[in-house]
Amino acid sequence: MPDPTGQLQALAEAARTAIAAAPDERALEDLRVRYLGKKGELSQVLRGMGQLPPEERPRVGEVVNRVRDEVEGLLARRQEGLAQEKLEAELRGPALDVTLPGRRLVPRGHRHPVTRAMDDIAAIFSRLGYEVASGPEIELDWFNFEALNIPADHPARDMQDTFYVDGGTLGPSARPGVLLRTHTSPVQVRSMQRAGQPPLRVICPGRVYRSDYDQTHSPMFHQVEGLCVDRGVTFADLKGTLAAYARAFFGPGTRTRFRPSYFPFVEPGAEVDVSCSICGGTGRRDGKRCGTCKETGWLEVLGAGMVHPKVLANGGFDPAQVSGFAFGFGVERMAMLRSGIDDLRLFFENDLRFLEQF
Ligand SMILES: [Zn+2]
Repeated sequence: MPDPTGQLQALAEAARTAIAAAPDERALEDLRVRYLGKKGELSQVLRGMGQLPPEERPRVGEVVNRVRDEVEGLLARRQEGLAQEKLEAELRGPALDVTLPGRRLVPRGHRHPVTRAMDDIAAIFSRLGYEVASGPEIELDWFNFEALNIPADHPARDMQDTFYVDGGTLGPSARPGVLLRTHTSPVQVRSMQRAGQPPLRVICPGRVYRSDYDQTHSPMFHQVEGLCVDRGVTFADLKGTLAAYARAFFGPGTRTRFRPSYFPFVEPGAEVDVSCSICGGTGRRDGKRCGTCKETGWLEVLGAGMVHPKVLANGGFDPAQVSGFAFGFGVERMAMLRSGIDDLRLFFENDLRFLEQF
């Protein structure tokens, strides 16, 4: 093998030129591999040293080391040089205006007051052993009316302004069949059919629809339906359950009272009042009459009663064997009374100035 010293010097010379001319870090890395890599040019020279006479090896080895050190040094300096050039290019580029305002943090959202009220209600009843059930918002006339003891000619149908779904259009058409549910009560029969046998304790929070719009009515609002069916369920169970709910939702001192009322799907039926959450049931607030309860000290919040035998039968239960109670109420009204809001439409305008108060 010829003396590789000349080859090494040529290699060093070529490396000096190539490294000085490397335009960027990538090209520099290619050069590092080319000269110093495992299969690089220096490695090839080292591999050939085995063929040199032993007395030559130290001298050539020294040259190899010197060239390697030099190439390593050149690479490191060129790398620094490139970094410096890059920095200078950035500084020469468009100026950074540090007085520009930074990116604003996106305001954090929170749950809508109606959603919060529904979650609270579901939590209260789940502590009483109730499960949350659901049903379709586009409902069959049968579940919404017939099964709940409201036949086609029943005057109670006039109590609810129904949106009928008719051949893809929506309106108070004369042709029943499919409709937007006017209350969450259809879930009663659906839940009974689903359960098949007692005991059954469900609440159903959900949207309902009526053709109605003013300060206390919205075409879409939320109701919660409750249903408990078992052997030996009595009106006393209903009273105890709703009293416990009222205390949990409005506060520990809340009282309840039941007034006889009529709903086709319960017998007997009752309207349920709670002591006014604003004036504490006194009818007076700060020496003036309480506008929320109109000085009566009571707020009408719920409809309830013992499930009508026909409804139990439609749900697949034997009214001779089991009994049950049901109740229903509007979520917006509950939330309004709890927070002292007087216009229901505020809930649906999604004005942040209103919503952020909760
Ligand atoms: Zn009051």
